[in-house]
Amino acid sequence: MDVPGVFDVVTADGYEQVVFCHDAPTGLRAIVAIHSTALGPALGGTRFYPYATEADALEDVCRLARGMTYKHAVCGNDLGGGKAVIIGDPAELRSEALLRAYGRFVDGLAGRYLTAEDVGTTQADMDLIRRETRHVTGVSESLGGSGDPSPATAWGVLWAMKAVAERLWSTSSLAGRHVCITGVGKVGSALAEHLHEEGAKLTVADVDADAVAAAIHEYGAVSVEPDDAHAVECDIFSPCALGAVLNPTTVPQLHCEAIVGSANNQLESDTDAVALAQRGIVYAPDFVANAGGVINIAEEPHGYDRQRAYDRIRTIYDTLLATFARADADGITTAEAADRLAEERIASVSRVKLLRASSG
Ligand code: NAD
Repeated sequence: MDVPGVFDVVTADGYEQVVFCHDAPTGLRAIVAIHSTALGPALGGTRFYPYATEADALEDVCRLARGMTYKHAVCGNDLGGGKAVIIGDPAELRSEALLRAYGRFVDGLAGRYLTAEDVGTTQADMDLIRRETRHVTGVSESLGGSGDPSPATAWGVLWAMKAVAERLWSTSSLAGRHVCITGVGKVGSALAEHLHEEGAKLTVADVDADAVAAAIHEYGAVSVEPDDAHAVECDIFSPCALGAVLNPTTVPQLHCEAIVGSANNQLESDTDAVALAQRGIVYAPDFVANAGGVINIAEEPHGYDRQRAYDRIRTIYDTLLATFARADADGITTAEAADRLAEERIASVSRVKLLRASSG
């Protein structure tokens, strides 16, 4: 094993449990990281990815699990932060037996960790895992699940944009606003559809020419090269492809008033949030803006109801306005304000749980 000091990684940010799973016949090597169950069972997707080293896999799964703790907390879910990785190339390694072996390991955690789809895994994979464990979400609607979370994520990003519009222009309407979306995949294209219906003007960028052509054809968008998208003069820049798109190179080149997108980890580092604030650009923290998918999934255990889920997703609007108010009050970046709101909810709700335990 090439992971020196596993406990250095695990204890650094207070992870509750990290589980290594191995099944020789199928070649399964997986790591499940549970960061916190303070608010409820840890929920986060399973990433299937050919990590260069086991140390990279461990670092990634831990970082992602911690991020889920904050995402669930700030959006009001009664869920904790967890994530899993399967090490390997899904194109070579994916098999029914491997996924079912993995499902057995998830089942062994007895509901402390609930899995879901992520980069490299599909809804069909979740359906296979479901055959071994109940502790999986995002399965097909025919199996009682909520299906692909992307439309729900896009709905949440739309409401995040409306909150930003309220802050900047004192109206939640996006009619006539110019939005530049980079990445018109599952989330970006659904977002483009909503914005088109709202009467917004669209510019899109994607490395996939077909995705760009579809957005031009269906939503009257104009296109720009992916490398130039961040510099387009527009009202809102919407990163819906890759992370780290906001960095010391791109931030000085931005010509927008706000950033609101679905991509995870949009800031390369915390200092980029400071640079955005200094430039007067409103940043909607990614884990607040893109929480629609996890809010949708969190409705599954109650018996999934789309209307109820989508009503809850709209609360991203209020959460974001509260985030902006907190940033103003404390004189901090919006990213830090969202972290504080999440940490405070974890601390206060955990205390309620202790009260319940002591009275029950
Ligand atoms: P997707 O793979 O369907 O779409 C991503 C799109 O980005 C693709 O069309 C791809 O061609 C394009 N792309 C890749 N590299 C690019 C580049 N350099 N420049 C421009 N475009 C590029 O993924 P998705 O499900 O739509 O997710 C988009 C982002 O949102 C990801 O960062 C994902 O982690 C995040 N996210 C998604 C969800 C969800 O529910 N799907 C939830 C939360 C966060």
